[in-house]
Amino acid sequence: MILPKSNRLTPAQLAEITSIVAEFGCSIQPIIGAVRTIYAIVGDERDDLMINRLEGLDYIERIDRIQSPFKLMDKRSDLASHRIALGGVTLGEELLVIAGQCTIDPKNPNFFYETAAAVKEAGAHVIRGGVWKPRTNPYTFQGDTKSLDILMEGHRRTGLPVDAEVMDEQQLQLALAAGVHMLQVGARNALNYSLLRAIGRAVAERDTVVLLKRGLHMGPLSEFISAAEYIAAFGNPNIILCPRGTAPTLDGYRNHPDESITPLLKEKTWAPVVVDPSHSVGKAAYVPACALAAVAYGADGLCIEAHVNPSHGIGDDPKQALTPEALADTIIRAKQVWELTHRGKSGNS
Ligand code: PEP
Ligand code: MN
Repeated sequence: MILPKSNRLTPAQLAEITSIVAEFGCSIQPIIGAVRTIYAIVGDERDDLMINRLEGLDYIERIDRIQSPFKLMDKRSDLASHRIALGGVTLGEELLVIAGQCTIDPKNPNFFYETAAAVKEAGAHVIRGGVWKPRTNPYTFQGDTKSLDILMEGHRRTGLPVDAEVMDEQQLQLALAAGVHMLQVGARNALNYSLLRAIGRAVAERDTVVLLKRGLHMGPLSEFISAAEYIAAFGNPNIILCPRGTAPTLDGYRNHPDESITPLLKEKTWAPVVVDPSHSVGKAAYVPACALAAVAYGADGLCIEAHVNPSHGIGDDPKQALTPEALADTIIRAKQVWELTHRGKSGNS
């Protein structure tokens, strides 16, 4: 990782370091942070001669070599001071709440508009709405591109940023062209490297945020963080990790709830953690407790499915969406847990 003395290298300086590392079979990937740009060396950066030549340049402050499978996302990385902000919330400073329908019903757009207004009223900062849906059974509803217009209309009506899952590059381009603010990588695609690469490339130089769900079958935490690393390595460090339950399921719950990995992730990476209690437990009645547990474990935010009329929703909504009243109550209580867990840290007892 190359840290320049100035906030950003000039094109001539970038060309110079690119040509030096190319001699050693490496390339340079700029990572654009809010304040300064740092330059990742992509490839085997162990050659001392390469490092010496870079360190000898008068515009280079230093070269950091972190021995980590995820150099950029590692807590010791220079990116650790990077802050992600969305919907008026800077992650880490206030609990971020993403809420809305699992799936937008293109035949009933008013449900989405009413849900969007209701979750805003309940205290959400970002509205979620599934446009394209991965399903357990391919013969069930897989979403509809028309719902993208409905999602963006929800944004216009509420003024809040919106989140939607993309499953392939075509959907990615459509979502970016429409102006979707947060791109969700679903549990079924957390290891889809070509999609992660495409997202990393497409969102470089934009402030689009990526919500990376933990894969259904992901084991070691390094596997999850390395998937985030792969997105960051293509240029955008605005990545949030989202535990959402793993397989095998726990009797009675849809998945094996994994909000308890939050502190373990935070020991290794600077990336914010936003837990999805809805898919973790899969039933509305259990969602609030899982949400509170997540915040107690140190989550920076929650992603909760909610619907004005869950039984008339589609996708997961009939079984796991909270009503706006239950969402409002959960947000109030989650903020109380947040205050309790952060009291010691900020010093205001
Ligand atoms: C969703 O958010 O509706 C969804 C399908 O999530 P996951 O990828 O976690 O299953
Ligand atoms: Mn869902």
